[in-house]
Amino acid sequence: MDIIYTDDHRLRAAKTELYGGELVPPFECPERMDFILEALKERPIGSIIAPNHYGTDIINQVHDADYLSFLDTAWDEWQAAGMKGEPIPTVWPSRSMPAPHIPAFIDGKIGYYALSSETSIAKGTIEAVHASAQVALTGADHIASGKAHHMFSLCRPPGHHASRDQYGGYCFINNAAIAAQYMRQNGAQKVAILDVDFHHGNGTQAIFYDRDDVMFLSLHGDPSDAFPHFLGYADETGYGQGEGYNINYPMPPNTPYAAWVEALDQAIASIRAYAPDSLIVSFGADTYENDPISFFKLKSDDYFDMGARINALGLPTLTVMEGGYAVKDIGINTVNFLIGLER
Ligand SMILES: [Zn+2]
Repeated sequence: MDIIYTDDHRLRAAKTELYGGELVPPFECPERMDFILEALKERPIGSIIAPNHYGTDIINQVHDADYLSFLDTAWDEWQAAGMKGEPIPTVWPSRSMPAPHIPAFIDGKIGYYALSSETSIAKGTIEAVHASAQVALTGADHIASGKAHHMFSLCRPPGHHASRDQYGGYCFINNAAIAAQYMRQNGAQKVAILDVDFHHGNGTQAIFYDRDDVMFLSLHGDPSDAFPHFLGYADETGYGQGEGYNINYPMPPNTPYAAWVEALDQAIASIRAYAPDSLIVSFGADTYENDPISFFKLKSDDYFDMGARINALGLPTLTVMEGGYAVKDIGINTVNFLIGLER
């Protein structure tokens, strides 16, 4: 399995994350990629290749134009306003303000386009975000063109929390969603996205919620107890034409692999019944027992089995990197998953 990767992710090097009432160095940091690359060097699974460039057509189909232009200029506008720190939202259109205008001033705009406040937009963020999107599209192209049966898009920043017009949870452009849209435009009639990151893929769900050509399945920490808190419940099953094509498997704190894998097997059975042309796995290693911001209890060896079960579907599969923050072990667990996927 070849790996799509670019050093351009390093352009995203935010200094601050709002966590536990403090500004801390972000959990989503460039070193995450270094640990994965190091593990891939120790146990090579294929070539590491640079992304191609596919422009913005597919990105524009998945995200709103006003949101994308906000991302382009947010840092500069924040600087121009004389703000000292990195852009973090402080005010939102809440339930009591249900029909918001888009404010002109950057502080208001950030609140409009952010779904949460931990993720600061730093200098260089938008460049890294677009590079990450091309990493996803290149992987999608290899699968859609039949050049490869398995590909790994080593994306950073991640994407699955980003919706059509909101960023947060370290995500800005939804890499898995643009990969799915690319596949749909290049021969695939049906695509399934299986999200095994610890957190619910709220952005991916929202983007495809009313569609039956992209099925979305997510295994995650119960949103009642875990980020993103306001989406990812079991009763969210799709809307209109998409009814029945969104499946959530929320699970409680301390879920071990033995229980987690029961949900995985159910998800796999649903994917088999759906019979997609290709599969996208939103992979996060934050289901790991020692992840600093999550609460599942998966062990390193479990990732081999996870990959092998998904591979048994026999589908052309693009794995897209999402989260995972126990930085040292993220490499081991990610490569274990990829090795399992080729078993
Ligand atoms: Zn996550």
